[in-house]
Amino acid sequence: MTSTAITGITELVTNDPTTGEGALGILHDAALVLEDERVAWVGPRADCPPADRGRDLGERSVVPGFVDAHTHLIFAGDRCHEFVARLTGQPYDGRGISETVDATHDASDDDLRALLRARVAELRGQGTTTWEIKSGYGLNTRDETRLLRLAGEFTTETTYLGGHAVPAALRDHREAYVDLVVGPMLEACAPLARWVDVFCEPASPVAFDGEESRIILEAGIRAGLAPRVHGNQLGEGPGARLSVEVGAASLDHATYLSDEDVDLLADAAPEGGPVVTFLPLVEYATGHAFPDARRVLDRGVTVALASDCNPGTNASSSLPLAMSLAVRHMGMTPHEALWSATAGGAAALRRTDVGRLVPGARADLAVIDAPTFLHLFYRPGVPLVRALDDDHFAC
Ligand SMILES: [Zn+2]
Repeated sequence: MTSTAITGITELVTNDPTTGEGALGILHDAALVLEDERVAWVGPRADCPPADRGRDLGERSVVPGFVDAHTHLIFAGDRCHEFVARLTGQPYDGRGISETVDATHDASDDDLRALLRARVAELRGQGTTTWEIKSGYGLNTRDETRLLRLAGEFTTETTYLGGHAVPAALRDHREAYVDLVVGPMLEACAPLARWVDVFCEPASPVAFDGEESRIILEAGIRAGLAPRVHGNQLGEGPGARLSVEVGAASLDHATYLSDEDVDLLADAAPEGGPVVTFLPLVEYATGHAFPDARRVLDRGVTVALASDCNPGTNASSSLPLAMSLAVRHMGMTPHEALWSATAGGAAALRRTDVGRLVPGARADLAVIDAPTFLHLFYRPGVPLVRALDDDHFAC
């Protein structure tokens, strides 16, 4: 076991209120000792115990690595033209998700692995150290299985999303597709996934209504998977209630919540009810109105911020940008936004070993090239933060 003392930290966010100031547990002039993959000690720089080696970060701020609890990172091709058409109000003649499904089907395992490796490097280069990855661009048993197997090479947080969309060829036979998703496809995919998810959105002809979504989630639960829900993205709907009723770890999007939905989520919160995971990069990319995070924050609901990085409705993997949008457009404070992109993401994945920097936690550090994390908001779009990789910061 090798220990490393990390010093030169102007401000350390631990997310442990018993360790430092406020909900973020902030320490000034701090140090950490890492032992292999874990945090062994956190405290004032002057009290730092001896270690096998030292590393001086040169007076920078350190926060827990971001936890992106919602991504669709494994796919081939891109739909940049669709984004530009939406942006400029031009007619769009593409095929939407079918275009990605076809490109992904045609890609080899090595192609997909290379694409995913590059995207993971992109995440780490922006401070993200934990990421969930969903399937959902296969929509047949062979490809859904393949996507989960490849995703599992890059994360333990794999999500079976056969219930992403009804494939074009089965639009008139929705029940047949749901039968496949809860039958042979689930059987093949369950051993490769931790989570089951569904796109519950009756307003979309390609997505699933409340009853179809319940069937898919309950089948996943019976197969040993834990549920999470895409819901309430395009309008009010059954997703929020369903997330509470099936015991989902997270309700994702939640752009349109009724007062009753907020009551249900607030009532469930003390018993570990769903985290509400907002995805403001989607509102940015689609031009939709941003959700008001205060409605749930002020009712005691745990909030996460994630990217939803995907080829159709948001192709950005930047959690710093998501955080900036949340403070400018969703009523969150910078402190809340940072917490939600770290500890909140961990809660959405039911993880206690990431999202905070305390003894025993994973040694996942994000280093900010500034004296305080507030510069992430003060200087949006500037590449200030990255995961603490081997050689980037001064030793
Ligand atoms: Zn999504």
